[in-house]
Amino acid sequence: MSECIFCRVASGELPAERVSQGHGWTAVRDVDPQAPVHVLVIPTEHVESLNDLSEAHRDLAAELLLACRAVAEAEGVSESGYRVVANTHDDGGQSVPHLHLHVLGGRAMRWPPG
Ligand code: AMP
Repeated sequence: MSECIFCRVASGELPAERVSQGHGWTAVRDVDPQAPVHVLVIPTEHVESLNDLSEAHRDLAAELLLACRAVAEAEGVSESGYRVVANTHDDGGQSVPHLHLHVLGGRAMRWPPG
């Protein structure tokens, strides 16, 4: 059994509110939403962070970005706008060491982020 929480979410071993699924990824609602729409796009493969994406992940990287676009559309925020975030390591505020993209929408985002 994997120790990684997002490996377990992606495989379905841990319950989560799944919103969609695609080739090599799954999308679930964040348990602690920071916006009316807050979905996490999680690769099935254990990749620790954006730093660990390599040339070998070219197709996966494209899949993940297209997944964010599809999630935004399905959640009805494509036109109003949304933000895609990949917190990376300590200064980026990454708390789960398994790559994931936050799709946030349904309210105006501020800049710069905190
Ligand atoms: P980050 O801080 O960028 O690593 O984001 C991790 C996110 O995962 C946080 O927003 C958490 O609220 C969320 N989270 C942690 N565990 C779960 C879970 N089991 N299902 C859904 N979201 C989770």
